[in-house]
Amino acid sequence: MGAETQPLIGAQILIVDDDDAIREAMHEFVKMAGYTAFTAASAEHALTLMENNKVDVVITDIMLPGINGLELTDRIKQNFDVDVIVMTGYSGDYSYEEAISKGASDFVFKPVRFEELMLRLRRVLKERRLTQERIHMLKKLRRLSITDGLTKLYNSRYFYNQLRIEIDRTTRYERPLSLLLLDIDHFKAYNDNYGHLEGDKVLVRLGEVIKTCLRKMDSAYRYGGEEFTIILPETEGGEAETVAERIRSAVKMEIFHPCDDGRPVTVSVSVGVTEFNWNEEVAVFVQRADKAMYQSKQSGRNRVSCLFVRE
Ligand code: GH3
Ligand code: MG
Ligand code: MG
Repeated sequence: MGAETQPLIGAQILIVDDDDAIREAMHEFVKMAGYTAFTAASAEHALTLMENNKVDVVITDIMLPGINGLELTDRIKQNFDVDVIVMTGYSGDYSYEEAISKGASDFVFKPVRFEELMLRLRRVLKERRLTQERIHMLKKLRRLSITDGLTKLYNSRYFYNQLRIEIDRTTRYERPLSLLLLDIDHFKAYNDNYGHLEGDKVLVRLGEVIKTCLRKMDSAYRYGGEEFTIILPETEGGEAETVAERIRSAVKMEIFHPCDDGRPVTVSVSVGVTEFNWNEEVAVFVQRADKAMYQSKQSGRNRVSCLFVRE
């Protein structure tokens, strides 16, 4: 079998027809073609089955007792990520256009020629797989575009994006918002002493340590080379200072072994903490965190400084 004719592995097909003989014949045929198949004699039963089972494609008759096949197609397209193939007699009661406008992926006439149905089913499944791959790829690209490659924290572009969103929310609901800015102390010397690769390991590890100190709604970013920012929504300055202190001390406790002799080495961070002031510019907010961090540097490093007042 070529790739074109192979069933999509694990594809689950639901056949909906109130005629027992047709339904069972189709069931057998679809199973023989290598798919997992379920059956339902009504649209209502089909919808219940879909609530509890993963279904990729529904093949449905139009003429059904109760909800008809077109209405079923409509409901499926509104509530599930499932493709639909509609079957109808030559009566002329229903048209190809109607089925497609409800969201059906394809349309076959009854009496159904199984070979034709299989060709159409394979084509629908192939398009479905391509669509899923495309969605998966787009998600991956988006994730990459907002992630720092080394630390796997978010990157600085995403930082400004999220900070603007949080500032809008804070302004609208009059909620507190805090920001931390961390800078590794004497990191140039670390690189000079132990090499850039060992320095990179510190950055990666600190990214992990920072994450373990955060709450669910907090987010951490690699702001620049050896600088990190952390957005703390719904957090007042005092609370943010506690988080900052937790991170500072967790970083200090980390032990690195960058030398061949196994000697333990520690690093420290200087942290700036600030809280958002009503109506201020994004840049002013970030600069104040930076200024607070700089105060930590000036007063001896490995410490947390807060700047809450409006300049
Ligand atoms: P301070 O305590 O004043 O912050 O001193 P510092 O040495 O950390 O500050 P400085 O700004 O002079 O140096 C920052 C260093 O961070 C220099 C640079 O080599 C290092 N750095 C920046 N990005 C990376 C990176 O991606 N990997 C590694 N290994 N080092 C980096
Ligand atoms: Mg720096
Ligand atoms: Mg530094």
